[in-house]
Amino acid sequence: MSAYEQLLEYIDGLNIIDTHEHLPMEADRPKETDVLSEWLAHYFSSDLVSAGLSADALEIVRDSSRDLLKRWKIVEPYWHAARFTGYGRSLDLAACGLYGIDGVNGRTIGPLNEAFVAAREKGGHYKYVLKDKSRIALSIVDSDPDCDREFFASAVRLDEFICPVHRRDIVRVGLELDISVHSLDDWKEAMRRRLEQAFDHQGCVTLKCGLAYKRTLHFGKAGAAEAERDFNELFAEEHSPDKRGDIKIGKSFQDHMMHYLLGLADRRGLPFQFHTGIQEGSGNVIADANPVHLTNLFLEYENVKFDIFHMGYPYLMELSNLAKNFRNVFIDMCWGHIISPEAARRGLVEWLDAVPANKISAFGGDYAFVDGVYGHQKLARENVASALAQKVDEGVFDLDRARETAGWLFVDNPTRLFNLASRLKAARKGKGAKKRKKK
Ligand SMILES: [Zn+2]
Repeated sequence: MSAYEQLLEYIDGLNIIDTHEHLPMEADRPKETDVLSEWLAHYFSSDLVSAGLSADALEIVRDSSRDLLKRWKIVEPYWHAARFTGYGRSLDLAACGLYGIDGVNGRTIGPLNEAFVAAREKGGHYKYVLKDKSRIALSIVDSDPDCDREFFASAVRLDEFICPVHRRDIVRVGLELDISVHSLDDWKEAMRRRLEQAFDHQGCVTLKCGLAYKRTLHFGKAGAAEAERDFNELFAEEHSPDKRGDIKIGKSFQDHMMHYLLGLADRRGLPFQFHTGIQEGSGNVIADANPVHLTNLFLEYENVKFDIFHMGYPYLMELSNLAKNFRNVFIDMCWGHIISPEAARRGLVEWLDAVPANKISAFGGDYAFVDGVYGHQKLARENVASALAQKVDEGVFDLDRARETAGWLFVDNPTRLFNLASRLKAARKGKGAKKRKKK
């Protein structure tokens, strides 16, 4: 057996940590759906649009009340063009590995949908996909503190404290946290309470920031006076509920609140997941999401463990330098293996030359529908085996070290970073794990 084959066999046997998902709980999956509708919720749909599919046509294709084969006809040429992107390959892997169907095409779309619908009706699909087929010990889900602990632990996002868009946000959050908000200090107190609630009572394991979708990741220092001026815009007469829509609150306020949050996180030594690099969807400003913009935060908040998402794609080398240079910066490959399998492999080969191997987490599915997670973890295992095999073939290290490294990347590093040991125990107990509260 080649080094690659031996490593893949070893990695296939690992029960891995999944650092990032957007999955709804199984009981909350959308009811009116079919395979095209669910599998084109995101990612591959963006490749189809990139290939030329119009936004209007995509809406039709996603509409499960319309005829499946007619919708397939609309999408077919674009699917053909994009099939071998990471997103496309992930779906073909899911069709084959989960439903025993050889790829998604005009011939298979009907039977695939029948198998998809049957699996939904049968139930137990999360156990089948996440545990039995994907061998995922635990996934960190984005913002669902009531998540099913057999499968998940939760991240908490406080983005709405940094970018509130309307006074109604302030009122609602204040009601939830039992504080009447009139000043910047009140709002900071509300954020502090939310953080305590998340970590001390709801069992969240990390902070998460998704603001790179709508602003630069450079958070400058801004004084309270400037921040309060911006904040007061939310209370201006012309912004009363009936008169105006959302506003974009001033940058000084946003920056001030991020620094306040990081101050709280620093005192507790919390991990903080940051979206960097590629933004999902069509059309955005990639330069805003360059992880280099976060440098001043890395310098100032030494006890925060910055978990930098998505390999920083396309800023893989910048991220390499940051992780090498800062003790508190970690590389997270979530989403990465389907963005570009080649970039993931190349990135890992380079990082292992520059960055200590205890600072990289290899996998996060980052899907909003569960079948995609299967395809993604399969690509991730192959990519990591390939990168490590290259090192072995070049004589950099031997197979034992390669296996040890694989265990770190897929299990030990994320377990330590997010302090997951007790969560893993609860997840293994399964039935004993906290049951999801019904909404
Ligand atoms: Zn995500």
